[in-house]
Amino acid sequence: MNEKDKPAVLLEYYLKKLKLPTLLREYASMAVVCRNDGADYQTYLMRLVERELLDREKRAAERRVRDADFPVIKTMDTYDFKAQPSVNERLIRELMRGEYIDKKENILLIGNPGTGKSHLACALAFAACAQGQRVRFYTVTKLVTELIECREERNLQRLQKQLQRLKVLVLDELGYVPFSKAGAELLFEVISQAYEHHSLIVTSNLSFDEWTEIFGSERLTGALLDRLTHRCHILEANGESYRLRQAKKQTKPRAMKKSHPDAK
Ligand code: ADP
Ligand code: MG
Repeated sequence: MNEKDKPAVLLEYYLKKLKLPTLLREYASMAVVCRNDGADYQTYLMRLVERELLDREKRAAERRVRDADFPVIKTMDTYDFKAQPSVNERLIRELMRGEYIDKKENILLIGNPGTGKSHLACALAFAACAQGQRVRFYTVTKLVTELIECREERNLQRLQKQLQRLKVLVLDELGYVPFSKAGAELLFEVISQAYEHHSLIVTSNLSFDEWTEIFGSERLTGALLDRLTHRCHILEANGESYRLRQAKKQTKPRAMKKSHPDAK
């Protein structure tokens, strides 16, 4: 190695060791920029470190979204409130700010299929990710299956600990499938733990008086609703299914065309 290259080689080695990939990538080009700007050493270092920090935050945000395991990414910009006037837009916009998370409040989205409950749950949870919160999306059926599997493999505590570390846990589609007694009890434990540790966003097509049917026990349902609704924002979406409406819109013009005598 020639003497001139030595500092660069060592610098790159140190930057790798320190896990500073942005500094490693940009220290040379930033030196040229700063030389041209007449910037001093301090400014050079500040600019580089700033970039490292921004990149690190961006990578962390991407990791949070990956770890959240969203089925699809949905955001509030694509939600049409006019199509679903039963949804309280003002409340949703307020919840998007994420203050409910610090207060460990829950969000319950109740209503018919196709009214955008999952969309809203995803959008709220995605906003929480962007605000630096640890989030996880589950359909209730998937979570219950995982809980039962983990218990059989004596791994239940690990999953429970993982869930407790979250700030927002989404439980989508409560009520689509009834549970076994064991499933209901395991889900009850998750909801009880959440009450102590973090927020839940729950979507369901059931009204509260129907919950006993899927949990099987009136006592369990009572205790569960008590915890779930103690600090809770309840949103109802009771309009027409968005999908159904879109489908109707698409079929209508064709049907008219067909019946029109001049239609080609
Ligand atoms: P739900 O969970 O209430 O059954 P979804 O959230 O799955 O309904 O909505 C079904 C589909 O329709 C999704 O693709 C969703 O993005 C879309 N959708 C529903 N409501 C709206 C809305 N008001 N604006 C835009 N898209 C909507
Ligand atoms: Mg849904």
